[in-house]
Amino acid sequence: MEKKQFKAESKRLLDLMINSIYTHKEIFLRELISNASDAIDKIYYKTLTDESLKFERDDYYVKVIPDKENRTLRICDTGIGMTKEELDNNLGVIAKSGSLQFKKENELKDGYDIIGQFGVGFYSAFLVSDDVTVISKAFGSDKAYKWHSKGAEGYTIEPYNKEKVGTEIILKIKENTEDENYDDYLEEHTLKTIIKKYSDFIRYPIKMDINNKKLKEGSEDEYEEHIEEQTINSMVPIWRKNKNELNKEDYENFYAEKHYGFDKPVKYIHTSVDGIVSYNAILFIPEKTPYDFYTKEYEKGLELYSNGVLIMNKCGDLLPDYFGFVKGIVDSEDLSLNISREILQHDRQLKLIAKNIKSKIKNELENLLKNNRESYEKFYDSFGRQLKYGIYSDFGMNKDVLEDLIMFYSSKEKKMVTLSEYVDRMPEDQKYIYYAVGESNERIEKLPQIEVVLDKGYEILYFTDDVDEFAIKVLMKYKDKEFKSVSSGDLGIEVDKKDETSNEEDKENKELFESMKEILADKVKDVRASKRLKNHPVCLANEGELSIEMEKILNSMPNNQNLKADKVLEININHDVFRSLRNIYESDKDRLKLYTKLLYNQALLIEGLSISDPVEFTNNICELMK
Ligand code: ADP
Ligand code: MG
Repeated sequence: MEKKQFKAESKRLLDLMINSIYTHKEIFLRELISNASDAIDKIYYKTLTDESLKFERDDYYVKVIPDKENRTLRICDTGIGMTKEELDNNLGVIAKSGSLQFKKENELKDGYDIIGQFGVGFYSAFLVSDDVTVISKAFGSDKAYKWHSKGAEGYTIEPYNKEKVGTEIILKIKENTEDENYDDYLEEHTLKTIIKKYSDFIRYPIKMDINNKKLKEGSEDEYEEHIEEQTINSMVPIWRKNKNELNKEDYENFYAEKHYGFDKPVKYIHTSVDGIVSYNAILFIPEKTPYDFYTKEYEKGLELYSNGVLIMNKCGDLLPDYFGFVKGIVDSEDLSLNISREILQHDRQLKLIAKNIKSKIKNELENLLKNNRESYEKFYDSFGRQLKYGIYSDFGMNKDVLEDLIMFYSSKEKKMVTLSEYVDRMPEDQKYIYYAVGESNERIEKLPQIEVVLDKGYEILYFTDDVDEFAIKVLMKYKDKEFKSVSSGDLGIEVDKKDETSNEEDKENKELFESMKEILADKVKDVRASKRLKNHPVCLANEGELSIEMEKILNSMPNNQNLKADKVLEININHDVFRSLRNIYESDKDRLKLYTKLLYNQALLIEGLSISDPVEFTNNICELMK
C-alpha cells in the first residue's frame, strides 16, 4: 500500500502534537466533536433544502465509544462523510487559516501556545493518540475508505467496508507517562465531563456507548440496537439559552469551540430580539487582531442560522466593514432556508437584523469605553484603525456611528483620549482641535511646529496611523470644532506683539524671501517668516487640502499620481541663522544659495521626507565646513 507524505507544515504540527507537553490535551475531543457536528450540519442542510432527499434518514448524532480493553476511543458521526479525495486533501494538510497563524508563531518551541491559543482541528487527535484511523463514507458515494496514520511519517488510504454514510475516528490512546494519565480518556466519567464542558451546546445528541467492546472497528453500524446509550449534552444551542443560566466561561468556551479567535474576547453580547423580525444572536468583540485582519484575505461575517439550521458560515451582509472584526452567530426564524446568497443580500429581514446588530455593537462599544477603559484601549489598539477607515470610507456616511469611538494620543494626557474628552476641556480662546502628524509619538514630540501650540497651553492629538489625517479630513468637525494641523498655514493663534517686526524690516525680509523662493524654484510655493517657530531655524508648513503627510502616504501607494502638497518654507526670524542669512544676502549670492538649499533640506528631514539629492546635500555641508 502506498504511503503518502504529509505537507511540510502539517508534519511539523503533527510532531508538535505528538510530543507536546501541553496540559489541556482534552481539547482534542472538542475538536473532533466540532468536526462531526459540522459534517452533520452539512447533510442536514442538504436534506432540508433538496426535495429529492426527503427520504433521507433523520438520525443525526455523534457517538463517543471508549474501549478500555483495546485502548481505543471512537468518535462516530452520521454526517456528510468524506470521499477518498477529501480524506486525502482535508486530513493531509492543516486547515488553511490556522496554518498561516502557525507560521507566524514559529518562535514557539513545544507548541504549547499554538495549541492553547487557537484550534488545531483534526490534528489535535495526535495529542492523545499516536495511531489514528478515520473511516468514512461520503454522502452520494457507494464506497468507503480508511485513512490511517501513525504520525509524522505519513498516512495510507485504502478501500473499506462501511455501510452508513458518515465518519468514524478511532484513536489508539497513548500509554500513560509520568506526566500524563492517558487512561483518563478512556474513562466514561472523564469523557462526560469534557463533553459537558466544551460541547454541551452542540445541537445534535452526543451519545456515549460503553458496553460495546466486542465489535470490530468500522462496525459502529451495528450499534443501532444497543440500549446502553446516553445523551450527554443538553443540545440547546447557547444562543437559545437564557442569559442567566450562562456565565463568562460558557461564552469563552463557545468562542474557542468556534475558533472565533485565539484570544479571549473583550466583550460578548447576547441578544434576543422579538419584533418585526425575531432573532437570537451572540456577538464577540475580540481583543487581538487576527493575523490576516488588515489584508484582502480577511473575510468578515457572522454565522447565519435559520431556525437552528446553519445556512451560511460567514454572512458578510450582517456586518458593516468597520465592525468587520465582530464574530458570532445569528439565528432567526424569519429567514427562509432555501435562500440563496444573491437573494439574501436584498432580504428585508436580513437588512433589519444587520441594522439592529450595527447599533447594538456601537452601543456596547460605547459602554465598554465608558465602563471599562482598559479593555476598550486593548480593543482599540487592535481595531481602532478599522474604525478610522470606517469614518474615511463611504464619503463619511458613517461619521455619526464612529466619531465617539475613535481615540488619539494626547500631548497633554500622554495617553489615548477621545474627541469629546478633548473638546470638553478646550480653553475658551481655543478655536481648533489641533493635531500633528508623524511616524511615532516620539517623532511628533520633536517636531518644531508643535512648540507654539503647546506654549499656548493647547492640547495636540498625535496622528501616527496612515489613515488618521484622511479620516479627519472627512470628519471635518467634531462638536462644531474644526480640526487644524500644526503644520497648516494659518494656525489661528495670536502671537505675542513683541515678535512683530517693523514695516521697514518686513520689506527687507520680503526681498530676501523672494530670492530664496527663486533659488528653490518649484520646490516650495512660498518662503516666509514663521509665526510658530521658537527654537528651530526652519520648518515646512503647508497650504491647501493635501498635507505633506498625505503626500507621503499617497505617493507610497502603487499607481500613485505623484501628487504634491503645497509646501511653504518657514524661517524663524528670531534665530541666529536668520541673522547670518541677512548678512550674506547682499554680499554673497553663492552663499545664500548654499544656505537656502541646506535649510530646505533640513526642513525636509525634520518632516521625515527624503532629500532628492543626498550627495549634493553632504557636499554642501562640507562646503560650509571649509
Ligand atoms: P476545520 O474544521 O477548521 O476545517 P479540521 O482540521 O478540524 O479543520 O478539519 C479539516 C477538514 O476535514 C474539515 O474542514 C472537514 O472538511 C474534514 N473533516 C474533519 N472531520 C470530519 C468529519 N467527521 N466528517 C466530515 N469531514 C470531516
Ligand atoms: Mg475543525
